[in-house]
Amino acid sequence: MHRTPFVAGNWKMNSSKASAVELARAVARGAPGSGIDVGVAPPFVYLDAVGQVIAGSKILLGAQDVYFEKSGAFTGEVCAEMLKDLGAKFVLTGHSERRHVLGEPPNLIARKARAAYDGGLIVVHCVGEKVEERDANKTFPIVEAQIEELGADMQDVQRIVIAYEPVWAIGTGRNATDAQAEEVHAYIRQLVARRWNKDFADRVRIIYGGSMKPENAKGLMQQPDVDGGLIGGASLKPDSFLAIVNAAL
Ligand code: PGA
Repeated sequence: MHRTPFVAGNWKMNSSKASAVELARAVARGAPGSGIDVGVAPPFVYLDAVGQVIAGSKILLGAQDVYFEKSGAFTGEVCAEMLKDLGAKFVLTGHSERRHVLGEPPNLIARKARAAYDGGLIVVHCVGEKVEERDANKTFPIVEAQIEELGADMQDVQRIVIAYEPVWAIGTGRNATDAQAEEVHAYIRQLVARRWNKDFADRVRIIYGGSMKPENAKGLMQQPDVDGGLIGGASLKPDSFLAIVNAAL
């Protein structure tokens, strides 16, 4: 089954307006024009500036978070409609930093994924176990519970992307091996087949994240169930991000 690879840069809380614009410009200039979906997720405050720079290119604009309400007294929050207003096409949900650093519980993450999906955005839903959970052989049940934050009635397969990001690999320089990634990706595809259906599972993109860099990207992406990457640190430099993008082709 052919799946168009999806590779996105998660810039996290990095960059200035000037450096965000420069990075976006370099990515738009260097990314292949077809055969792959390439996205960038700058901080909220730079979405507008980055959106303007990549307008007219194939690069997808993404947000790192979204609130589930549509409007109202929610100081500091941003809703799906506001993101779309700036041209955002995708949003991250369930990122490990939001789960484990900011303390988002599963029910909040589920509501955010629902609001993003119902709002017409692509949901890049992040799942992954902590090192102690892996050591206790809990990777599969942890990932399963996190997949269940998505509703099985979310049937537009082009707007669901699942990112497997083992927490112990994020920002640590220690990536999962090709085999470790493939084992969990294949498991996720089975879960998706059960929760949605086989056709949906064959078509959904399951991408890897966690210290992906030019040196390890090819091996990871060559795994049969790895359909791209969610890139943190290595997405902040155009050369390394574009090398990873090219490794996915
Ligand atoms: P990393 O981050 O590439 O810096 O490990 C990945 C992520 O958090 O999405």
